[in-house]
Amino acid sequence: MTFAQRMGRLGTETAFEVLARARALEATGKRIVHLEIGEPDFDTPAFIRKAAAAALEEGWTHYGPSAGLPEFRKTIADVFGAERKFPCDADNVVVTPGAKPIMFFVMLALLEEGDEVLYPNPGFPIYESVANFINARPVPLHLKESNEFDLDLKELEAKITPRTKLLVLNSPHNPTGAVLKPETVEGIAALARKHSFWILSDEIYARIQYEGRHLSIASLPGMSERTIVLDGFSKTYSMTGWRLGFGIMPKPLAVHVTRLMTNSNSCTASFIQRAGQVALTGPQGEVHAMVAEFKVRRDTIVEGLNQIPGVTCFTPKGAFYAFPNITGTGMTSKALATALLEEAGVAGLAGTSFGAHGEGYLRFSYANSLENIQTALASIGDYLSVRTRA
Ligand code: PLP
Repeated sequence: MTFAQRMGRLGTETAFEVLARARALEATGKRIVHLEIGEPDFDTPAFIRKAAAAALEEGWTHYGPSAGLPEFRKTIADVFGAERKFPCDADNVVVTPGAKPIMFFVMLALLEEGDEVLYPNPGFPIYESVANFINARPVPLHLKESNEFDLDLKELEAKITPRTKLLVLNSPHNPTGAVLKPETVEGIAALARKHSFWILSDEIYARIQYEGRHLSIASLPGMSERTIVLDGFSKTYSMTGWRLGFGIMPKPLAVHVTRLMTNSNSCTASFIQRAGQVALTGPQGEVHAMVAEFKVRRDTIVEGLNQIPGVTCFTPKGAFYAFPNITGTGMTSKALATALLEEAGVAGLAGTSFGAHGEGYLRFSYANSLENIQTALASIGDYLSVRTRA
């Protein structure tokens, strides 16, 4: 069998592979604590589930417009325009099945072959994968722990060329949990205006930030006309399996992204959009409670990791990931992640799942119960102390 060459350029998300291996181990009777997959362990709030059931009964079971239901697009524009402080209306919004398609569609719509895409490394693997797939040139920006995993403006400036077309930002950041400093966001905006490139601002964790307020680059002068804000319902409302996300972007780009929707998904499921509408306009108490619970877990896992010999952990300011530095163990990221899964029953990801600059780190998702986090910490500590003594 032969496949199109481009398939060789498409990457993947290791979390799903590790999850499959963890499940295979569980099937043999092993107990595994799942800290690999990036999804909240909470149920979707009941009022949203009820809204979806009611929408099905009301007959929201047909095709809808490719860009999304008009009322829902308007609600998204109103809610997020006010919250993130940039001007937008319904025509700026395209609703998609999950937020991920926005990465794909925006790159397809904007990039010619050979155009350069600056992206964070370590970072969400799909940015690099999609850029490679469409024959653009991904250019990594090295996020360093010594710089609190903030973007280095000097490095950014040095890597801008006449082919730079797009910069991907992600704050709060997966996998480090870092939040871009306001002065960094200002500096990036100045460079984007000067060199005239686009920004894809992945703000999927914007509402899961423990310190300070989220600053959207789209709110800075002259930026909403060159920024695509990507967000969705997976993380904030614990709706990963529903597949509901959106992009807010300049209208001429929204027209193209809508055409990509017509050519791929036709539209996002109508009853799910109706539930999304209720999620945004209904009570937000459960969202706040989830964030408060994540903060308790963050404090527990960071403190616990810092007590394990050979491991140190930066305190994440948002999202639900800990990104411990494991260089003191003398093991590579991949070797330690594999050993912890196979021998200690803890599923986490090697930092290199997020790009080459993730070497020396692991990523643990703390979207799991405090009890399971404590179990995982004890198992990691036991494994490493036995190994050090051996
Ligand atoms: N962006 C980042 C940084 C993520 O971590 C994820 C999910 O893991 C997504 C986007 C995709 O979200 P969705 O489930 O809405 O497609």
